[in-house]
Amino acid sequence: MKAFRTLSLPARRQISRHVITARSSPSSSLSSPSLSLLSPATTATATSFQTRRHASSSSSKHPEGFTPPTADDLAELRERVQEFTRREIPEAVAAATDRGNAFPAEMWAKLGEAGFLGMTADEAVGGLGLGYQAHCVVMEELSRASGSIGLSYAAHSQLCVNQLQLNGTPEQKQRFLPDLIAGAKVGALAMSEAGAGSDVVSMRTAAKKVDGGFLLTGTKMWITNGPDADIVVVYAKTDPSAGSKGITAFVVETKSSSSPGGETTAGFSCARKLDKMGMRGSNTGELVFDGVFVPEANVLGRVGGGVRVLMEGLDLERLVLSAGPLGLMQAALVDVALPFVHQRRQFGRPVAHNQLVQGKLADMYTRMQAARAYTYATAKDVDENGAVRTQDCAGAILYAAERATETALDCVQLLGGMGYVEEMPASRLLRE
Ligand SMILES: Cc1cc2nc3c(=O)[nH]c(=O)nc-3n(C[C@H](O)[C@H](O)[C@H](O)COP(=O)(O)OP(=O)(O)OC[C@H]3O[C@@H](n4cnc5c(N)ncnc54)[C@H](O)[C@@H]3O)c2cc1C
Repeated sequence: MKAFRTLSLPARRQISRHVITARSSPSSSLSSPSLSLLSPATTATATSFQTRRHASSSSSKHPEGFTPPTADDLAELRERVQEFTRREIPEAVAAATDRGNAFPAEMWAKLGEAGFLGMTADEAVGGLGLGYQAHCVVMEELSRASGSIGLSYAAHSQLCVNQLQLNGTPEQKQRFLPDLIAGAKVGALAMSEAGAGSDVVSMRTAAKKVDGGFLLTGTKMWITNGPDADIVVVYAKTDPSAGSKGITAFVVETKSSSSPGGETTAGFSCARKLDKMGMRGSNTGELVFDGVFVPEANVLGRVGGGVRVLMEGLDLERLVLSAGPLGLMQAALVDVALPFVHQRRQFGRPVAHNQLVQGKLADMYTRMQAARAYTYATAKDVDENGAVRTQDCAGAILYAAERATETALDCVQLLGGMGYVEEMPASRLLRE
């Protein structure tokens, strides 16, 4: 659960900033999450009314003509993802991915074939256009099977694909999205640098204007899918003196499209693959840009508009990533701890018959459900009202990641000695 936690750390600042602002602003958007989620049985009619009410409303975060999915649509999607994970990511695959410290490359085509790589993208470029609740469902179920595969999946389908969907020109979408959505190419997003993490605007990677495009020079750190990526959304300074207004987003192709063998683009390299505590099956790399030429046609958004692209993207990235810890909690409680405590007998009866054990299970369940309610209420607000609340996107991942760490620790504890050995997935879940 640690990686999700790391991703959530700067989130705490986002929440406090918005909450503090909201105290002096009665019209602020700090309303409680949609009540319909808290009481589904009594609000079925209201939900369908809401869905219809918003079906025709346009949102800048969804493809044109987007209709929010119904609860039945989402339940059906969840079943489809579960069928996929049962078939393609059984525990043996998750354990081997973790042990091998490598993402199973064949998974990209399988995810693409299942349609999961373009959850929020236009149908015209191969996407499903199902919105953020649906994306969270896929992320939750994939992470339940393997946190590593879930993290790489989110970096590809949300950080890269959705940034192109939201900010790309029609021509850029046609060029890049079909292959990414099919899983024929791997996507990543590179903002962080060794010296610029939480304070990402202090990045040093520079983009110098040259004839026909820009030359990118700098190093990006901790880039999920970096060692494998064909297409990377990269942020760089086009005007270092302009602070946050001097950053631009680029689409960098790491392999030369003009050479049939797909040679590495001149000046680009992955300096090293990082050896992580958890999420070991999600490849993370340090990327080097040494005068990489990026044509004008690959500027994403407008020159100098990179911070808007980055910050607006971060809200939705945090929201979708918050479903990762939800999946890890499902795994820890439903898939590992519950069967174990019913099967394991001590003092002549299953350990589940002890009240202290039952109390732990109740705590695990309550945390998981509270985190799920927060994530899905936030995603529903995006889908049905087009409302992206920074504080709730950040709050959802902060809450889910911290609860998931507690839940994984409880899982380790409930399994006794078996929680401490790699024969069982408990320690992998804790590291993830
Ligand atoms: C598994 C993994 C995958 C990642 N994938 C990507 C990716 O695909 N693309 C990408 O661009 N980046 C990626 N990152 C990087 C991630 O976004 C950064 O690690 C994150 O932004 C934090 O930056 P940092 O590590 O430099 O920590 P720092 O910013 O150095 O923070 C160190 C500590 O100081 C605290 N801190 C910092 N500033 C403040 C403050 N103002 N007030 C209080 N506390 C503060 C932090 O909360 C933290 O506890 C990934 C990281 C991990 C671990």
